Order: sequence, then structure tokens, then C-alpha cells
Amino acid sequence: MRYQSTRGGVSGISFKDAVLMGLADDGGLLLPETIPSLSPGDIQALSCLAYPELAFQIISLYAGDLPSADLKTLIERSYRSFTHPEITPVVHEDGVYILELFHGPTLAFKDVALQFLGNLFEYLLAERGQKMNILGATSGDTGSAAIAGVRGKQNINIFILHPHGKVSPIQELQMTTVTDPNVFNLAVEGTFDDAQAIVKEIFGDVAFKNQYALGAVNSINWARVLAQVVYYFYAFGRVQRLTDCREVSFSVPTGNFGDIFAGYIARRMGLPIRQLILATNENNILARMVRDGDYSLGQVATTLSPSMDIQIASNFERYLFYLLGEDGAAVTQAMADFRAQGRLSFSTEQQTRIQADFAALAVDDAQTLATLRAFQEQTGYVLDPHTAVGVRAAQELSGGECPVICLATAHPAKFGDAVRQAIGQDPQRPTSLEGIEDKPKRCQVIPAAVEAVREFVVQHAG
Ligand SMILES: *Cc1c(COP(=O)(O)O)cnc(C)c1O
Repeated sequence: MRYQSTRGGVSGISFKDAVLMGLADDGGLLLPETIPSLSPGDIQALSCLAYPELAFQIISLYAGDLPSADLKTLIERSYRSFTHPEITPVVHEDGVYILELFHGPTLAFKDVALQFLGNLFEYLLAERGQKMNILGATSGDTGSAAIAGVRGKQNINIFILHPHGKVSPIQELQMTTVTDPNVFNLAVEGTFDDAQAIVKEIFGDVAFKNQYALGAVNSINWARVLAQVVYYFYAFGRVQRLTDCREVSFSVPTGNFGDIFAGYIARRMGLPIRQLILATNENNILARMVRDGDYSLGQVATTLSPSMDIQIASNFERYLFYLLGEDGAAVTQAMADFRAQGRLSFSTEQQTRIQADFAALAVDDAQTLATLRAFQEQTGYVLDPHTAVGVRAAQELSGGECPVICLATAHPAKFGDAVRQAIGQDPQRPTSLEGIEDKPKRCQVIPAAVEAVREFVVQHAG
């Protein structure tokens, strides 16, 4: 499989090169040149497999330049860190299926991709005799999952900036209690936007970026999307075994369009998905786009589902590439228009196509709390607020003709405040969080200044 950029300036590169490139050199995102198509018989055969074997089968279709035995080992190592024997189990509650994606080390679905990406980076860097310094800013989930993915790995350092005192206590502890020597937590005296602006500026200095081999782990890396395609197939297999259904629908709480785009790829590979429901919180640019063709930037609102408090969905460009007929020049133009005007418009024909691809709903905080509360009363099952957004959208939009699978993107214990607001009690703590407050911590408080961060990287980069 060869990879190309959504903007047409990069093509014919291997999977390995695509993983190490991250963002395409022309500023676009990388995609496979073709999407493999599976027959119903192929899908039937896949649906019986255990998770690691299924992951191997799906990922091999896209990573022909990785020797099979090596890929197998990477996958096995990546999912050994999950605490559930099924990796991503499916449970049935109150008429919906919940795909639990939170059994990894940081209790959010990002572990599914980042455990794999960490091992893959280590493997590729060793093979090429290279080093990498990962630099990123986080408001919570991505940072902790990225740290968990690369802690203790050879030839990789990771520098993660978070806004000092402004991430949830659990999320902060999940980062700062990792004391491996290759992990550097920087608590920036400022906001998340300050932290992100610092990271952007440092990446913008190409000479510095090259000298220190800076790498990124945000959701633009194709390997992350690919690892997430796997659980759509897995969930289909489990639910089909229970219901004998021909098709399923998925409801996906979305911010950056990463997780739902993985579902879109699964469908293009032939997985029989009836509805792909895109659920947002009040940051509803994606829902507006699907419902009204209005893709226009708003202000970022703070909600009870903070990991979806995003306006610019970086993976949307991947979908745009298909919507615009795989025309790199058209994507380049559209992205330039979007940067200049803060909005994109679509033809009637494109709008029809978007609505055939997705159903969408924006769910506000009051509805999120009400859904979490009602679900707990009816079933005893406690949702996290992100998952509640998806469950609400499924309840409102699924036609009931086929089973609907809601992606549970985080364990409720990660968002204890919202859960307490909804049901008046604390969610149960999984064993991985027990005693986390008492563990040794390592974190450097640093001014919100590019120079200070750059200097820290220079001092500590390998
Ligand atoms: C990151 C995150 C999301 C949004 O994921 P996307 O890939 O941006 O759609 C949803 N829920 C949780 C808990 C997250 O951490």
C-alpha cells in the first residue's frame, strides 16, 4: 500500500514513511492510495477473530512493508497493556450496545491507537537508527495517552505541555506520575491555547524542528486512524453473533473527526454500517455541517465533555478529500478558503452525499447530564459524559431497524465531576487509579513563553 497527501503534493510513499512523516510535507494529511475492499465472506471470517488477530489482519492490508512477524509482535505488545481480555468488549444496556474502548492504561479510547503508535515509532526509529523528540500540548486525554504510549521506549523523548492547574486532577496525575526518564511534563503558566501556540511556534521553526527531530502525536497520524478502524470490525462481529443482524449503526462522540473517520473507512472497506451517527457537544461545527451544510467556525465553548471542545477538526480534511473527488488541488483551495474566511460551503450534490455518509446531532450539557442520569437509573450502567453525548444522539437518530453500537470513549472515573453532577455519586474507580495521588510525581512548572520551552527541550533532548 502506498500513501498520498490530501493536497496532492506527496504520493507513492510507504506505510513506514507515512507513519514517520505524520503531517504530510505539503501541509496535508496522508491517506492510502486505495482503500482495500472486503467481501461479505471476508468480513464474516474476520468477525470471529480475537482482537489482536483481527488487528493484525486489518493493519496488514495497509502496512505491506512491515514484515508479518514484526507486525504481530507490535500488536501483541500494544494490547497486552489492556486490562480486559477482550481489549474492547461490547456490552448490551437498555437497547443499545456499548463498545467499551477505555480498558487501556489511561482509561480513554486514545490508548487503542497510541499504545500501537508508541511501539511502532520505537520499531521504526531503531530500524533507521534515528531518534525522535515528541512535543505536544494537551488539555487532558491526548497527552496522558501519548505519554503512556511512549514511556520507557528507546530513542524517543516526549515533552507534553499542559496548562498548569487547568486539567482535571485525574488527568494531571495520569501524566505527572509517569516518572520514566524519557517523559517530561511541562505545566505551563497559562491556558491550553497558550500551550498550543508555543508548540505551534516551535514546530514552525523548521531548522529547530529538524535539528531536534521533533515529532507529533496528534490525531493527524494515519496509524492512529488505522488502529481505530479495527474496533468497528470487532464490534460488528460481537453484535452480529448476538443478534444475527445484517447491518449495524454506530454512534460516535466526536471532536477532531478522528474516531468517526475511522468508521467511515471501515464502511468503505465493506463493513455493513447503516448509519454513522456523528455526535458533538455544543461545539457543533460538524453537526451543523451535516445538518445544514454550515461549516463555519465558532468560539470554543467549555463543556462537560472537554475532550470534544474543539472547533477545527483536523481530520475533516481527510473526508473532504473524498467529498471533493480525491482532487488534491480542490482540497488545497478549500483549506485556503477555510483559513481565509473561517467557513466552507457545499453544493446541493455534496450536501446530499454528506447526509448519506453521516447523521448528526449536537447535544448540550443539560441533555448530556439528563442522558447520563436516565441511563444509570434504567440500567445501573454509568456512562462518561462523552459517551453520554453519543448515546443521546443514538436515541434520537437511530431508526431502530438494526442494532446501534455507541462508542464509549472514556471511563466515567476520568470525569468524576460531571458524573457526580448527573447522578449524585462518584463513579467507581478502576484499580489502575487506586493510590494514584500517593505516587511520586515529576513535572516542571514553566512560564508560558516559547523561549523557556525551547530551552527546556534543548537541555533535555537526547
Ligand atoms: C479525544 C476524545 C474524543 C474525540 O475523539 P475524536 O477522534 O476527536 O473524534 C471523544 N471522547 C474522549 C473521551 C476523547 O478523549
